[in-house]
Amino acid sequence: MKKIRQPIIAVLGHVDHGKTTMLDRIRNTRVAEKEAGGITQHIGATEVPIEVIKKLAGPLLSLWKGEIKLPGLLFIDTPGHEAFTSLRARGGSLADLAILVVDINEGFQPQTIESIEILRKYRTPFVVAANKIDRIKGWKVVENEPFLVNIKRQDQRAVQELETKLWELIGKFYEFGFQANRFDRVQDFRRELAIVPISAKYGIGLPELLVLIAGLAQKYLEEKLKIEVEGPARGTILEVREEVGFGTTIDVIIYDGTLRKDDIIVVGGRDKAIVTKIRALLKPKPLDEIRDPRYRFDQVDEVSAAAGIKIAAPNLEEALAGSPVIAVRSEEEIEKAKKEILEQIKSVIISTDKVGVIVKADTIGSLEALSKELQEKNIPIRKADVGNISKTDVMEALSVKEEEPLYGVVIGFNVKVNEDAEEIAKAKNIPIFVGNVIYKIIEDYEAWVKAEKEKKKKELLAQTKFPGIIRLFPDERYIFRRSHPAIVGIEVLEGRIKPGYPLMKQNGERVGVIKSIKSKDDFLQEAKKGDQVAIAIEGAIVGRHIHPGEILYVDISRDDAIRLVKELRDVLDETDIKALKETAKVKAQKDPFWSAL
Ligand code: GDP
Repeated sequence: MKKIRQPIIAVLGHVDHGKTTMLDRIRNTRVAEKEAGGITQHIGATEVPIEVIKKLAGPLLSLWKGEIKLPGLLFIDTPGHEAFTSLRARGGSLADLAILVVDINEGFQPQTIESIEILRKYRTPFVVAANKIDRIKGWKVVENEPFLVNIKRQDQRAVQELETKLWELIGKFYEFGFQANRFDRVQDFRRELAIVPISAKYGIGLPELLVLIAGLAQKYLEEKLKIEVEGPARGTILEVREEVGFGTTIDVIIYDGTLRKDDIIVVGGRDKAIVTKIRALLKPKPLDEIRDPRYRFDQVDEVSAAAGIKIAAPNLEEALAGSPVIAVRSEEEIEKAKKEILEQIKSVIISTDKVGVIVKADTIGSLEALSKELQEKNIPIRKADVGNISKTDVMEALSVKEEEPLYGVVIGFNVKVNEDAEEIAKAKNIPIFVGNVIYKIIEDYEAWVKAEKEKKKKELLAQTKFPGIIRLFPDERYIFRRSHPAIVGIEVLEGRIKPGYPLMKQNGERVGVIKSIKSKDDFLQEAKKGDQVAIAIEGAIVGRHIHPGEILYVDISRDDAIRLVKELRDVLDETDIKALKETAKVKAQKDPFWSAL
């Protein structure tokens, strides 16, 4: 039998913009009449049944032509990027829809932008809750009422102020490629992003927000939400935790099928698929029924998607947060599920001896997302695993560093750095990049790589001699001193010369080292093609080693040539290249290496 399940909804947004307050408010929604049924607390999630929404919404439902057949909405209790990134299902996000909370008075903030990027990346449809409208100057709060009721009570000034702030938001969204509008002015919900002005604190606008999400899900996600209720359950592990009286349990969001008390489940462990038989399905007792905190759960016989449930079963100690849970009812299915899970784990938990970065994340879902992002940027991965950053990780990065310094790093999402790991990383100069936004972590790493490359280039530049060809003026008048050191007037024909560069003759014979370069009264650090300067040459005697009118070359080494060609190519200009070619010809008389250059 097919049914439409509740859409799973995630809440994202900048810190302090009101995500938690909004979720709390939704959780505590009271509906006057008891028969409307209440909000149900799940494990890790909150369900708002459709009756509640209908009751709250009243005439607002006419926003949606056609009936809403969804059974309700399931909100994931943990807001923010971390949860959203970790909770994956079938390679995408577990959340079907999202609410982006923006403080209307503060507008876009860094995590607002990150949230938009994440939602875009996962192609998760979302609505915007423009929160804290009660802070608008002169706003008269009508608690627990729709926005459209509130707006009627405001004077012109407050309405105007709200409009101005909304326009600012709409403008910002436009910059990010979204056509946004106040929800009641949206013509086409497929093309326009709906903004609901709310006050999480006073419950303003929440009815509209709920109706809007329900309507959007009904209208645009119906196919995705249609499930075979009786089919075996599929879910994602939110968390693995110890529970008094039950041992290790897993908190799971079920997004497909029905999970039964006597089912066998297959879940992902670090390096294996764990097959285990369910001991109990647990859901939280309503708060007012908890008399003894040791008995916080009720046991149930079965649960259908979408739902959050705690599963007690043996052998869950090594289960991984973020990994899939697949219920099975036959031997054949066990093997299939094991294979599927193993494949997924193997594609995410990586252990190689490649030269690449070390990646850590808190759940298998976020690890998958982080690794994918790195791979898309062509950053090779040596190891990817779930857990905090340990000393072993740093040691492994250290061994990579010896081969390729730019990959000798540890990159972590939503994980801690163990103390001993931190110590050794400091001592051995292994950078660790951690954070709770994948894009930001990778950006930090890339910025570091860029800075390192520039630093290395600077070092290389300082170490490397550039080629140069000079000619002594033929006229004896430009021989200013014949020896100790010889000082002569020259013109740079190609390339460049610097103090400290050795010179050689056309037959490859070394004739001394440039001590200084002078133009009029100034000492120069460099002279380039076309410059006419006086140079002091230590070790050369005019008349014996060098002669007026003679052409001399900078005597560069093989290493110089290799670095110039390989690593510094982009700093060479036309005349440098010409000088290098001519110099190679001179050097090739004695060393065949140069003919191959
Ligand atoms: P989160 O970090 O996004 O989860 O934000 P919180 O829900 O913790 O809220 C941050 C602060 O803003 C708290 O002090 C809330 O009381 C306050 N806050 C949240 N929503 C509203 C609102 O609608 N109006 C007002 N005035 N304050 C709010």
